[in-house]
Amino acid sequence: MGKTALITGASRGIGKAIALRLAKDGYDIAVNFNSNQEAAAKTAAQIAQYGVTARIYQADTSKMDEVKAMFKAIRNDFGGLDVLVNNAGIVDDAYLLMINQPSLEKSLAINIQGYINCAQQAALRMAGAGKGIIINISSVSSVIAVEGQTVYSATKGAVNSMTATMAKELAPRGIRVNAVAPGFVGTDMLKSIPGDLVDKYIESIPMKKFGTAEDVANVVSSLCSDNFSYMTGQVLVLDGGLSL
Ligand code: NAP
Repeated sequence: MGKTALITGASRGIGKAIALRLAKDGYDIAVNFNSNQEAAAKTAAQIAQYGVTARIYQADTSKMDEVKAMFKAIRNDFGGLDVLVNNAGIVDDAYLLMINQPSLEKSLAINIQGYINCAQQAALRMAGAGKGIIINISSVSSVIAVEGQTVYSATKGAVNSMTATMAKELAPRGIRVNAVAPGFVGTDMLKSIPGDLVDKYIESIPMKKFGTAEDVANVVSSLCSDNFSYMTGQVLVLDGGLSL
């Protein structure tokens, strides 16, 4: 195919599933991770089964110097960049009265600044080529209220807003920007939820089940296809009906 996709936070969970899915579609894959090199290397090894190239890149997406170095390395290794999936994110739930400053600042830095850092660097390169696709992974928490998620929902609301603005700015340069907002997806991120709460959450979902990382990856794959070539600035909610 000769096209390259960068997926941030692709060592585990949803990012890994997206990396594998886009590899299956024929993209060469840049696998970003923060701390988990072994898992990132495993993702890259699994990608090899699709006969495309995969390389791993360490960068804390909230740090612009690291992001710039990563994009430079990707350009050296692959040339152009066709797809960016902004996926690297964290959750650190706390009721409003319990939120502490370091946690707040870390969430804002990774979930908001990190997305903007990578989108800016990607757009710089895509604009030169006159084409590109940026997909921001949001959350259903951006559109429904979940107790304990004042910070997380604020960051994901910001992702939806930035998606619209980026889309408007970048459309004349041939770059489409959309967001996918998953509901509950069974990854490491959900491991801190106590078992009885898991049952309660599943009961509240009309489809009575959590989504899978592959469900999200399939939607990202579709958004990258020509079937969606006239869609930009939208947030696709993928939640088994939770937000209805
Ligand atoms: P996860 O299993 O906790 O994986 C998080 C990934 O992000 C890891 O690859 C991690 O890298 C990476 N990461 C974290 N901080 C980073 C940083 N500063 N720089 C670069 N990479 C970083 O999470 P997940 O469930 O797959 O979630 C992925 C995305 O989907 C997030 O944006 C999340 O908000 C969103 N989402 C998740 C759910 C859900 O229910 N799971 C629902 C809605 C939306 P290391 O392995 O190196 O630490």
